[in-house]
Amino acid sequence: MLWQRGRRSSNVEDRRGRRMGGKAAGGIGGIGLVIAVGYFFLSGDPSMLIRQIAGGGGFGGQQQQSAPTELTEQEKQLTDFVSVVLADTEDVWKGIFQANGLSYKEPVLVLYTDQTPTACGTGQAAAGPFYCPGDQKLYLDLNFLGEMKRMGATGDFALAYVIAHEVGHHVQTLVGTSSKVRQMQARSSQIESNQIQVRMELQADCFAGIWAHHAQRQRQILEEGDIEEGIRAAAAVGDDHLQRMAGRRVVPEAFTHGSSQQRMDWLKRGLSTGDVQACNAFG
Ligand SMILES: [Zn+2]
Repeated sequence: MLWQRGRRSSNVEDRRGRRMGGKAAGGIGGIGLVIAVGYFFLSGDPSMLIRQIAGGGGFGGQQQQSAPTELTEQEKQLTDFVSVVLADTEDVWKGIFQANGLSYKEPVLVLYTDQTPTACGTGQAAAGPFYCPGDQKLYLDLNFLGEMKRMGATGDFALAYVIAHEVGHHVQTLVGTSSKVRQMQARSSQIESNQIQVRMELQADCFAGIWAHHAQRQRQILEEGDIEEGIRAAAAVGDDHLQRMAGRRVVPEAFTHGSSQQRMDWLKRGLSTGDVQACNAFG
């Protein structure tokens, strides 16, 4: 990607070098409701994110400042890259919202290490990147890039796709899709609920494609091979692929993000059309 000249976002919150201390954040409120908040992929236990439904809000854990760790050159460059991609999604979505008579509220992207408090409970790096509708923040532990590589997703555009997918969940929150989906899921069986979740994830993939479509048209950021990197990443995080990688049988009823083929198709749909209407995964 030709990103170096891009604008840097002012919405990156860097929490690296901070460790959670005090009361374990897992203990918030006592009563928790487990929700999936649009994990990019789920390689661990879904109960890692626990939304507080009782009590007066606030974070369960306290942040303690440990000695700031010096970032390596590679980490600095990654941080820079993330902030350019985020800024680019801001520009694209601001334009699309404006064209539809709406105003876009920019999300914050939190960089952290290992675990961090969120309005959705404790964010754990093992769950992969995720978006929390409660505080409208994207959470990213850049160490997950190693995990992505292991799954066959490499290259800068693969990371850009991940960020743009989580921004897609933010868009769903702003336009009210997320809350409608949660209401539908509350009335559904587990299998139906999973199917609804898959549609939500595929739409976020399509929205990621929309970002890339407009970024390319307006700023020519793509280089040869970038699209393929994104498509490969989408295939790598398909539920069937993840189940196989985990040594399990492929169980479509348990899908929460869509198969490799579906994820590739919806990313391509956004990429080729650049049209939000084409991303109606619920229709
Ligand atoms: Zn997602």
